[in-house]
Amino acid sequence: MIGIVWFKRDLRLEDHAALHAAAHGPVLPLYVVEPDYWRGADASWRQWAFTRGAVADLATRLPLVVRRGDAVAVLEALRARHGQVTLYSHEETGNLWTYARDRRVAAWARAQGVAWHQFPQHGVWRGMRDRDRWSGFQARLMQAVPIPVPALCFAEEPLGLLPDSPFPWAEDGVIRPQPAGRAAALGLLDGFLAGRGADYRRGMSSPLTAGRVCSRLSPHLALGTLSMREALARAGQGGAIPATATASLISRLHWHCHFIQKLESEPALECRAMHPLMETARRPTAPDDPLLAAWDEGRTGLPFLDACMLSLRATGWLNFRMRAMVMAVASYHLGLDWQAAGQVLARYFTDYEPGIHWPQVQMQSGATGINIPRIYNPVKQGLDQDPEGRFIARWLPELAALPPALRHTPWKAGGPAPVIDPAAAAREAKARLTAIRRDPQFEPLARAVYQRHGSRARSFRQDDPQPPPARQMTLQI
Ligand SMILES: Cc1cc2nc3c(=O)[nH]c(=O)nc-3n(C[C@H](O)[C@H](O)[C@H](O)COP(=O)(O)OP(=O)(O)OC[C@H]3O[C@@H](n4cnc5c(N)ncnc54)[C@H](O)[C@@H]3O)c2cc1C
Repeated sequence: MIGIVWFKRDLRLEDHAALHAAAHGPVLPLYVVEPDYWRGADASWRQWAFTRGAVADLATRLPLVVRRGDAVAVLEALRARHGQVTLYSHEETGNLWTYARDRRVAAWARAQGVAWHQFPQHGVWRGMRDRDRWSGFQARLMQAVPIPVPALCFAEEPLGLLPDSPFPWAEDGVIRPQPAGRAAALGLLDGFLAGRGADYRRGMSSPLTAGRVCSRLSPHLALGTLSMREALARAGQGGAIPATATASLISRLHWHCHFIQKLESEPALECRAMHPLMETARRPTAPDDPLLAAWDEGRTGLPFLDACMLSLRATGWLNFRMRAMVMAVASYHLGLDWQAAGQVLARYFTDYEPGIHWPQVQMQSGATGINIPRIYNPVKQGLDQDPEGRFIARWLPELAALPPALRHTPWKAGGPAPVIDPAAAAREAKARLTAIRRDPQFEPLARAVYQRHGSRARSFRQDDPQPPPARQMTLQI
């Protein structure tokens, strides 16, 4: 019987449990370009360009069958042509669209008597009931030896063509896109360990240095050109960089799984606040909201924030701290709905990974109820991370003529005032949040959120191991 191996966000041959399981018989490796997915509000041309590169690279390594259309229709056509088939894939923790699509595929498989074998991807536990046991599950999976590439024989099937684009979009202006494919992923990890990551801990927070010292593995991990287990195994061997840098990378690789587990356990986190009372803080934001547009287009008049957004739009990447800041300003200072702002960011991130993205968007917006809200001041962040205003001058050349300190506050040199006063907006946001957090229901509900999603590791400061009473929560303005 033919085994269809459905490649999704696992575009590699190495450490591929589904490919390994199917290898006892003829294999039909399949990639489906799904136009309805690419029409989603969180999808973009830059993500497609990277995906296309990774799929094309995979197609040089095995006779990949590429089809365009609805996954159920594609699978049914293959079943009709080949008779009884078995379906193999990794579990996908995607957005609500892929969740609904997988349910339709499961219904089709049941109706046609097709066995669908799905394997864990990363350290994510499908059907997890007890968060206390997650780290043991993740450790067992991640410490296992990566699965070698199996010997394969392939089923006869016309290969089909990989389309340039599944939608009629023009390029979205991304410059210097990250190279896709397996060799690029391995090159990044090796280069990081060989020396590029030496200043990782010191340089990761500033947008001036982060692009160089961070691993830049994120789009590869999002599409699985490198498995998490492979990345951890390779990082565990160390390199020429300080052990502290390697240890920091390894912690972040674990965070990757920790965050994705949240969305796996609660797919609705894409559209519903983790803490039920935080739903009341949401102000519906239309796509043409003027504040949303100003934030999106880097026109708020807050130079460091604008530079971060312009850099992200142009490159498809932003370091963690700046992602946290742009999200926090959108939610707190501008009062935008986190889902609307989160969709904008998702489209700009080449590395869009729903399982990290939506829990992070909620965390940086105060919607989880278990993380200490951080109301970043975008001017202070700029002065801390770009003291000479060089990043600002790069993305807003019209400010380059100002003395460095004034590049952060051009209104003090007679320039136009920003769309909000950061200090006043932060105070209002704090007052709104404090009112919600004073509700007697806030704390018990926060504890329930922690029970379901919170990290049990004391070293993991992003989730409070013991959420303090709501009124003791502090805000960093
Ligand atoms: C609002 C917001 C949205 C985000 N959306 C995404 C997203 O869609 N896709 C994505 O991959 N990351 C996302 N992140 C997390 C983080 O910013 C990126 O993983 C990181 O900047 C990617 O660069 P890198 O690969 O060089 O990271 P490195 O610092 O080199 O870290 C290595 C890997 O560890 C993981 N990692 C690092 N930081 C985090 C973190 N804070 N949480 C979870 N995993 C982490 C990533 O897989 C990353 O590739 C988001 C963060 C915020 C605040």
